[in-house]
Amino acid sequence: MQLEDIKGLGPKTINLLRRLGINDYNDLITYYPYRYDVIKKTDVVNGEKVVIDGVLESLPTVTYLRNHKDKMSFKLNTGDHLFNVVIFNRGFLKSKLSVGTSITVIGKYEKNMIVASDIKFKLIGDETRIEPIYHVTTGINSSQLNNIIINAINDDIIDYVPDYLNKKYDFKDKLSCIKKIHKPSNMNLEDVKNKLKYEELFLFMLKMNYLKNKRGERGLERKVDINKVKDFINTLPFTLTPDQEKSVYEIYDDLISDKRMNRLLQGDVGSGKTIVSFIALYINYLSGYQGALMAPTEILAYQHYVNIKKSLPDLNVALLTGKLKVSEKKKIYKELEEGSIDIVIGTHALISDDVVYHNLGLVITDEQHRFGVSQRNSLRNKGVMPDVLYMSATPIPRTYAITLFGDMDISSIKTKPNGRKEIITYLKKDSEIKDVLTMMYEQIKLKHQIYVIAPLIEESDKIELENVIKLKDKMELAFGKVCKVGLMHGKLSASEKDEVMSRFKNNEIQILISTTVIEVGVDVPNATMMVVFDSYRFGLSALHQLRGRVGRNDLQSYFIMISDQEAKRLKVLVDTGDGFKISEADFKLRGSGDIFGVRQSGDMQFRIADLKNDFDLLLQAKEDSLDFLNNHVNEYKYIYKTVEKLDNLD
Ligand code: ADP
Ligand code: MG
Repeated sequence: MQLEDIKGLGPKTINLLRRLGINDYNDLITYYPYRYDVIKKTDVVNGEKVVIDGVLESLPTVTYLRNHKDKMSFKLNTGDHLFNVVIFNRGFLKSKLSVGTSITVIGKYEKNMIVASDIKFKLIGDETRIEPIYHVTTGINSSQLNNIIINAINDDIIDYVPDYLNKKYDFKDKLSCIKKIHKPSNMNLEDVKNKLKYEELFLFMLKMNYLKNKRGERGLERKVDINKVKDFINTLPFTLTPDQEKSVYEIYDDLISDKRMNRLLQGDVGSGKTIVSFIALYINYLSGYQGALMAPTEILAYQHYVNIKKSLPDLNVALLTGKLKVSEKKKIYKELEEGSIDIVIGTHALISDDVVYHNLGLVITDEQHRFGVSQRNSLRNKGVMPDVLYMSATPIPRTYAITLFGDMDISSIKTKPNGRKEIITYLKKDSEIKDVLTMMYEQIKLKHQIYVIAPLIEESDKIELENVIKLKDKMELAFGKVCKVGLMHGKLSASEKDEVMSRFKNNEIQILISTTVIEVGVDVPNATMMVVFDSYRFGLSALHQLRGRVGRNDLQSYFIMISDQEAKRLKVLVDTGDGFKISEADFKLRGSGDIFGVRQSGDMQFRIADLKNDFDLLLQAKEDSLDFLNNHVNEYKYIYKTVEKLDNLD
């Protein structure tokens, strides 16, 4: 039903509703209150909240203040007392108030007077009134919206929870739940809320599972000689940690099975995900398919390229980034399509429309939260459905994994390679820069290297550049005599960046000043200290990622944040090195907006359910939705149709 078809709604109101995102009848009745005010007569106690009935003893007087504000005063007779009442910005009510008018006054009693926050013309008496409070906009208040909703509710309500599930959970029918949530007679709303939450989650999971089924889960069935994999692992300069080994075998099992792999490899920065991905690429190669490893930055792609060539010198590995010359790109495109390239490492360029793979069997995305869902899905291929492995250092709570991918398998690397020490983390004020320089000097004396992250300036590239250059000059002044200071920033060309980076790697540069272009993945084990100016400008997870650039061997490493602001937030990093806790804290501070770098789009916005708090309900809904799709679809065509209509995820 359209808003225009609802009796009593004029165009002006409809416009207001549209502003709240209410576009039809269903939106309107599922526009739930976010809280309730419970109003009940109180005693009048100094300094306390007061709710009291009375009769006006005087005509109100209104004085007008600055900025269109006003103040109204009157005397209220409550039968046994006479109170002075003031209320701000309700001057427009003056005409409705005369001597003898009965009202309820809600406010606070202080210094022999009531400062009211609201006036009601319906007396409270001995009743307990529950007022639903909605998110509203100027031009409409909660009680007006509530009236509109109550008037609109009719029998035309579709319950998306099938009868047998309503029975299973003892849920009430949807109509009575909708009525009750907008007009409760008491605050026992748990059952009602659960039903409405469940309905949302059930529909959501139905949609996820529907999409998953539709995409088809059959993957490549492969034959791989496990001994060759073991031989390769034995050539590595270290033994795999137990978690790395477990992850390798989980991936191996996925790859040889006919099920399509959809796996997340999760592990804190420095936990050693890269080598696991190389082994996966090798297994894929052994079974005769091409592999692709996609990295979020040029530098990281290049680093992987160099490393994998070292690990697997007999394979034909190519590097494909946006910075290549057209002729170079064309050559790689051709070889990818013909199949002479075994493994390609690259950036977004890997998923450009021009790239056609001969037989891509495995796609790995590193630090994958930086790629959008649609990008990950746009790999063009000849005939085969590649297996997919995502790697992430940002621990993704299972909740999001489940909701975004219906069902993604997860391998976790929980412990870092042996001998790693905790990275000692300090938070320093701008005025403590001398301490910082002293600590830097200690590291330089030990022949270690240091990253300095320059203040992040959002206003303009030009200012940013000036800033890092200034910082470099200062560092030159302090350390120029004892070591070499290098500079890395976004304005450098790819080859210039590579040049600086490789000089740092080769220890020709000892202090590297950088904007955050080094943010992800770079591996320089001799770097034992990172100093971050204006740390408050970064999210906690981003800082934790940065911190992961140091502490990459058994040397004691240090992470120093400099900031005069937001000490409380930054303290989280001083207190814990646990990436999971940090991302939880970040999540709480920032809200649930950003998952996998994909903004929560329409399909993930819930009206009443909450992925975090209603996780158990979500799991139930997930199970039920699978069973529904397998066994009950035909009895409930109307539900399935709705799910098909919701098919707009990518
Ligand atoms: P991340 O998980 O952040 O991608 P990397 O894969 O870059 O971590 O690994 C960090 C460092 O640890 C690298 O220098 C890598 O060679 C080294 N490394 C990985 N696995 C092991 C291991 N089992 N034992 C010792 N060092 C390892
Ligand atoms: Mg990595």
